[in-house]
Amino acid sequence: MTDCIFCKIIQKKMPTDFIFEDEHIVVFKDIHPKARIHLLVVPKTHIKSLAEISEKEANLIAHMLLVMPSLATREGLKGFRTIINTGKEGGQVIDHLHFHLLGGDHLPGM
Ligand code: AMP
Ligand code: ZN
Repeated sequence: MTDCIFCKIIQKKMPTDFIFEDEHIVVFKDIHPKARIHLLVVPKTHIKSLAEISEKEANLIAHMLLVMPSLATREGLKGFRTIINTGKEGGQVIDHLHFHLLGGDHLPGM
């Protein structure tokens, strides 16, 4: 999608601090970190939000979740928080599906 910031990042049209990339996903640092470590795990396919996914994305979603513990370990985290904001009322600002991975501080309980 041409006017999507995350699609531009995926296409390397914007300077970004990449942490990990494979065939299906990219992982980069959030530009406004809410914790000492704040990564975004983003599918290369433009999917608007979690509300738009179907069974055919099951493997992709599983892959995004499965990569998180190893990313957290690589960042030296012993624990981490995963957040998915969905829709404007759910706090989603960028309309390209992404999982937040936060850690590095003693995060308060929710
Ligand atoms: P959300 O509110 O779940 O849509 O989260 C969007 C996140 O993307 C926010 O935490 C922003 O700080 C982050 N963000 C926006 N633009 C960029 C960018 N160019 N590079 C990295 N992170 C970004
Ligand atoms: Zn996009």
